[in-house]
Amino acid sequence: MDYSKHTSAMSLYNNRLDPARSKSIRNHNLTLIANTLTSSNKHYSRAELARITGLNRSTLTRLVDSLIEYGIISELHSEITGSGRPAVPLTPSLHTYASIGLSLSKSNLEACVIDISGNILSRYYEQINDTNPTIILKKIKNIIYSTKQKLQKANLPTVSISIAISGLMNTTEQHKISSPNLKWNHVDLSDFYNKNDKDNNLEFIPISFIDLAAAGAYAEIYLRNKKGNTIPNFLYIHSGNSIDTALIKNNTFEQGCNNWGGKFGHVFVSSGKSNCSCGHTGCLESFAGSRALIREGKLGENASINNFYAALFRNEPAATRAANIAAEKLGIAISSFINIFDMPVFIFDGIYSEIFDSVKDKIIETIKERAICSNWSSIEIMKSIVPGNASALGAAWKGMNEFLNTPELWIKKSKEALSYYPIQSMSSDI
Ligand SMILES: [Zn+2]
Repeated sequence: MDYSKHTSAMSLYNNRLDPARSKSIRNHNLTLIANTLTSSNKHYSRAELARITGLNRSTLTRLVDSLIEYGIISELHSEITGSGRPAVPLTPSLHTYASIGLSLSKSNLEACVIDISGNILSRYYEQINDTNPTIILKKIKNIIYSTKQKLQKANLPTVSISIAISGLMNTTEQHKISSPNLKWNHVDLSDFYNKNDKDNNLEFIPISFIDLAAAGAYAEIYLRNKKGNTIPNFLYIHSGNSIDTALIKNNTFEQGCNNWGGKFGHVFVSSGKSNCSCGHTGCLESFAGSRALIREGKLGENASINNFYAALFRNEPAATRAANIAAEKLGIAISSFINIFDMPVFIFDGIYSEIFDSVKDKIIETIKERAICSNWSSIEIMKSIVPGNASALGAAWKGMNEFLNTPELWIKKSKEALSYYPIQSMSSDI
């Protein structure tokens, strides 16, 4: 496979096809059909696809045959339509290609492996106590190697590896990252996993990096499309040790000029005494990040966010007060965002998804007080619909999406391979 055709690191999901990126009209049409089927909750027949895409029936039939040969889509059992002619529903293929997504935060490292249909083939979770970059990057490398090995044993090609991480990627040197939350300063990510490694004989696949919140938003968009519940405009708020956001406008990621936006946790919300991970005081993160909740919840230095959830659900006064303060500061930051960007929907993952029912009223109350348009605009806050770690799933889906948009990387499959589901031999854990 020629991975030089992969899009660059930090490129983000774009549901709309850019014709200029396609090598040919045929490739454009192949990706159009692949995207239509993978992003929908419906199993379209050839006739329905012809109607949706505007392609004539014979062209579409040839393209669908190719997509089946490449293991991108499969046929389901035919259904009898009103006219009596059987329609064969088409669906994204199971177990023909695998994409690995990882997410790294200050407290945990997670991974998941998906196929084209979005099925999660495998998951990994590890709690982290030390964010030393040498140790962490070695852990990541080991996870990637062992996952690729298992996938290779199962005859399942790994087509992409993406890592979701909170920090600022240097735009001129794409692999240099600084992350206040991880206490990483200008860490070089290009060396820890490269072509020259001798300790594996697996095919080299370049790694791409994505912001934690953007990865979570990928998963949100993907699952909402699958459920037929698309929201075209929203701010996705990833909350953990850090609070990061991704802005979606008209189903498209709005990126800053350098990909350095979305650092919602470092927005000034109020005078405060506690230092934020960036070194300043008054940032949203210093009131509403996990460390602030644990500290204000009086849970002790070694407590985890799960201890905070338990204290809050037991209605312990310190935890309740901490959640209230955090909700108010979140409401202030969201109101400022509404006043500037006129955004109607805010979706939380992580902490504020877990404790949503305890904080939503205070957040809404603060927004109503502070957002100038709140009397006329219907502003909604909601929980993410993604179960489990949205960032690892989103990173995996971003990589798979880029693969689907690059037909040059697809591999023709034998009939035997297409009728065989090799992943059954793979353990469910990485
Ligand atoms: Zn800060």
